[in-house]
Amino acid sequence: MIEVASLTFNPFQENTYIVYDETKEAIIFDPGCYTKAEEQLLVDFITNHQLQPVRLINTHCHIDHVLGNYFVAEKYGLKLEIHKGELPVLDAVIPYGTMMGLKVEPSPAPEVFLEEGDEVEFGNSKLAVLFTPGHSPASISFYSQASEVLIAGDVLFYESIGRTDLPGGDFATLIKSIKTQFFTLEDQVRVFPGHGPATTIGHERKHNPFLR
Ligand SMILES: [Zn+2]
Repeated sequence: MIEVASLTFNPFQENTYIVYDETKEAIIFDPGCYTKAEEQLLVDFITNHQLQPVRLINTHCHIDHVLGNYFVAEKYGLKLEIHKGELPVLDAVIPYGTMMGLKVEPSPAPEVFLEEGDEVEFGNSKLAVLFTPGHSPASISFYSQASEVLIAGDVLFYESIGRTDLPGGDFATLIKSIKTQFFTLEDQVRVFPGHGPATTIGHERKHNPFLR
């Protein structure tokens, strides 16, 4: 059974997810830890729960989701995994960070490329890769049918959706991603977004003002 823990990091209040199961193997999604104190919070969580991080994955490569890539890759000896279509977004992080006055440790280059239809395995569990562009050109989301869990990146939020005004964003594409990839899932599936509180598919189907 998959457990999902979140820590909220950096000036953008980004949710970093630690996803693990009974074997204690864990995937770290979108490590956003920026300060030393945030890095320590992540390490403490992993140590206190006796977890073994085995994969490092970005749902997409906006700056707030990758600030901790370098730290996590080094600390746990992990290779970065992303969708290939996010490479230009990852390349833009350093210039964007400089412009924003943020001190960014350069992310390691990705060594594994994920795409729709792939299954990401860890411990006794697996997550299906869903292709959900619109907020970012090649955002991917991760779904476990067995545990009814969806790691949604910045695609769908509690009663909101991801912004589409950044490079590679597109409103119609985002709505299509949500309708075809998320709203085909069961109501009880829990949604863990990149910002703000968790929600469910059923709640968003009923109450999300962008998807009426
Ligand atoms: Zn984003």
